[in-house]
Amino acid sequence: MSMLEIHQFLERLGNLIRSQARRTSDAFDLQPVQLNALYYLSICNRYSDTLLAVSEYLGQTKGTTSQTIKLLEQRELIAKKPDPIDGRVVHLKLTAAGKKVVQQSWPSPVLKAVEDTFPIEHQDALRDHLKHLLHTCQTVNEQKTFAVCHSCRHNEKRAKGYFCRLTQEPLSAEDVTLICREHEFPKSA
Ligand code: SF4
Repeated sequence: MSMLEIHQFLERLGNLIRSQARRTSDAFDLQPVQLNALYYLSICNRYSDTLLAVSEYLGQTKGTTSQTIKLLEQRELIAKKPDPIDGRVVHLKLTAAGKKVVQQSWPSPVLKAVEDTFPIEHQDALRDHLKHLLHTCQTVNEQKTFAVCHSCRHNEKRAKGYFCRLTQEPLSAEDVTLICREHEFPKSA
């Protein structure tokens, strides 16, 4: 019974957030999915800011995501940048205007409105429980985690900064705070 209740609470919260997201995206003359793509590009790392990664994150086909990216580019909210090493790879970067839209849209006003009335220790505890629930669901359902780099099993803390054992490249202090399409939790996590 309690997992059914958890589902019901998540569903109702999701409806509130989605309904607000529709209002927020209307204010910017965007679709909610376009706003979600912008947000994803604001928190992902350099291995994950491609058309394919956006489509995986949004759970859309590449063709549908391509239309989303095209619109965001036309609106000058993102810009395409070729990879300096591999010319076949194109990175999708937020412009200053794109960053402004994200800053004004997250977290959802629905949650922002109750932030001060929700004790910080409760927020931390809820975040940890939700993170665990999400991780477990992704693992059991064999889905990509798209989690923050510092929690990845390929991330190695070194005397001078961080290193990705998968890509064999150094990582900056900012890199390890971003999410990644190659992320994998440690086997025991
Ligand atoms: S350590 Fe993991 S999350 Fe970080 S860049 Fe490497 S593969 Fe991605």
